[in-house]
Amino acid sequence: MAILKVARMGHPVLRRKCETIEPEKITGPEVQRLIRDIFETMVEYNGVGLAAPQVHMPVRLCIAGGEVDDEGRTRYRILINPEVTVLDEDNRLGMYEGCLSVPGMRGWVERPASIKVVAWNEKGEKLDFVLEGFPAVVIQHECDHLDGILYVDRIEDMTKFAFEEEAERFLDAADENMDEDEEPAG
Ligand code: ZN
Repeated sequence: MAILKVARMGHPVLRRKCETIEPEKITGPEVQRLIRDIFETMVEYNGVGLAAPQVHMPVRLCIAGGEVDDEGRTRYRILINPEVTVLDEDNRLGMYEGCLSVPGMRGWVERPASIKVVAWNEKGEKLDFVLEGFPAVVIQHECDHLDGILYVDRIEDMTKFAFEEEAERFLDAADENMDEDEEPAG
């Protein structure tokens, strides 16, 4: 296991469309090692999610958190070759997003609040689920990385793009996500 270096905005690996992982390779040693390393790196840097291109691996694999199970523990979903379908284009959820590849910054992004996701998990099983709210936003942020898209591309009002400290001091303090200890960064 290893903590990997996180690519920062400007590195071309963050801007390319990532390659599909052959499903039969998911349970093989290479993909399994990559999953463990991405997980460890995400935890080390307090990310709520992390995508493979952020650790310089341009393949369609990401980990997304932001969910809490019945016992209060954070649930992480490992998604391989994920496909996201928006269920209601008009129902949108806005928040200040952050990203480990854009350190120290926050920007207001509004995304669809409910999605359907089809993907493979780390065991090579096919997943098909519906998700709403914050975890749905996290998944969309991570899946964007697989297509070379950063959250900054989705900021419509650039007056709501700021350094973390200024965002907390001067921008929309009513947004509940700004009060959380855990960084909503992925
Ligand atoms: Zn990110």
